[in-house]
Amino acid sequence: MYEINETHDPELKSWVESANDPNTDFPIQNLPFCVFAPQNEQHRAGVIIGDLVADLEFFAQEVLEGSAVPYFLFDAEKAVDLSDVRIDRLMALRYELYKIFKEDVDPKVQDFIALGMHKRDDVVFGSPYRIGDYTDFYCSIYHATNVGSMFRPDNPLMPNYKYIPIGYHGRASSIVVSGTDIKRPWGQNRSDAEKPPVYIPAKNLDYEMELGFFVGRGNELGQPIPISEAEVHIFGLCLVNDWSARDIQAWEYQPLGPFLSKSFATTISPYVVTMEALAPFRVPAFERDPDDPQPLEYLNDETNQKFGGLDIKLEVYIQTENMRQENIEAHMLSRSNPKDLYWTLGQMLTHHASNGCNLQTGDLMASGTVSGKEKDERGCLLELTWRGTEPLELPSGEQRRFLEDGDEIILKGYCEREGFRRIGFGECRGRIVPADS
Ligand code: MN
Repeated sequence: MYEINETHDPELKSWVESANDPNTDFPIQNLPFCVFAPQNEQHRAGVIIGDLVADLEFFAQEVLEGSAVPYFLFDAEKAVDLSDVRIDRLMALRYELYKIFKEDVDPKVQDFIALGMHKRDDVVFGSPYRIGDYTDFYCSIYHATNVGSMFRPDNPLMPNYKYIPIGYHGRASSIVVSGTDIKRPWGQNRSDAEKPPVYIPAKNLDYEMELGFFVGRGNELGQPIPISEAEVHIFGLCLVNDWSARDIQAWEYQPLGPFLSKSFATTISPYVVTMEALAPFRVPAFERDPDDPQPLEYLNDETNQKFGGLDIKLEVYIQTENMRQENIEAHMLSRSNPKDLYWTLGQMLTHHASNGCNLQTGDLMASGTVSGKEKDERGCLLELTWRGTEPLELPSGEQRRFLEDGDEIILKGYCEREGFRRIGFGECRGRIVPADS
C-alpha cells in the first residue's frame, strides 16, 4: 500500500495557476498520466496539471536530465522489458514532477518548462496504453442483486458470487477514449418469444458506470500474483463506460455470457490516476454480512482488508439532443462509489492471475457497474428504469427507458476527504449516433 507523503500535502500549491483552483480535478497532488498529441503531431506520453498537459518526452530530454524517465511506462509498445514497469520508478517520476511543478520553482526554470507544456483544450488525447486484453468484472453486489432479481426473483445472486470475483473477457480493440461517438450497433433481437429473432439496430442501448484499472507490471505465465502484492501490479485508474445493448444481451448471454452486446464499444477517460495519488482515499474493503463467507485464503490479506477499498465519488449525467438545443444542462442520473464494491481491485487482479494466467502491461480491467444500495445509486439504465418498466423523466420533459440517438452520457469521478486536497479523474463522454441503415 502507498504511504501518505509530502506529495499529498493539502497546503501544496503550484506555479501553474489553474492547478490551484479548488474545483480542479488536477491539482499538484494528483498528476495523472496520459497519452496525447499536439495538433498535427505524434502521440506522446504526458502528465496533467491544472488546464495543462506536460510533454514527458520533452521533459525526459530537457528537464529531467540524469534521472531516468521511464516514459515507456505509458506505451506498451516501448515497454520491452516488463520488469522495468516498476512502481518505485513510477513513484520516483511522480516525485520529480512534483518538484518541478511546486510553486517555489525559479521563474526562469518555469519559463523553460512551459516550452514543453500545452493547453489541455488544444490537444487530442489517445488511449493511455495499447490495451492488449480487457477484462470486465461484476463486483457490485447491489448491481448483481438488482439485475439478478429481474431475471430470477427468487434467487437473485448465484451461489458463486460471494466466493469468486465474477468476470468475463471483454474486447480490447473497440475501446475508445472519451469524446468518441458511439454508433448504435445492429444485432439479434428476440423480444417476441413466439417468433424467430430479427437482425435490427439495438433498441435497448445502455451505459454502465465503471471504474477501470491498468496493469503496470505483468506476471509470468504460470506464476500467480499473491494478494499481498496485487497493488504493485496496478499502474493506475480511469473511468470506464461499458456500453451495453440489453436486447442483444438478453438473447445471446446464455450459456457463455456477454459477447456482441458489449464488444461494439467501451469508452475510457484519458487520464490515468496513480494509486499513489489515491493514497489518502483508501478505505477498508467492503464489510461483509456476518452470514457471508470470508474470502478464501488466496484472496484474503490483512492489509487488503484494511485499506483495499477506494472512496471515489462517481457521477453519471445525460444530455439529450433536445437538451443541447434548448441549452439545458446535463442532468444527473446517479451517484455511486466503489467503496461499495464486494471485491477490492487487488482481489480482482489476484483472482485473475490465480490460475497462472499472465497479465500484461497495459491490460485493462474494469470493476463492473458500480451501484450502491439506494435507488439513485444505480449505475446503469437497466437498473434505474427497472428494465425499461419505470421510465425516467428528464428536465426537458422527455422520458427515457434506454438511450436514444443523440444522447450523450458523461461520467465523472473525484475524491474528497477532510484534510486532503480534492483530486479527480476528469470526464468520460460518449454520444450515441444512429445505426447504419
Ligand atoms: Mn460491465
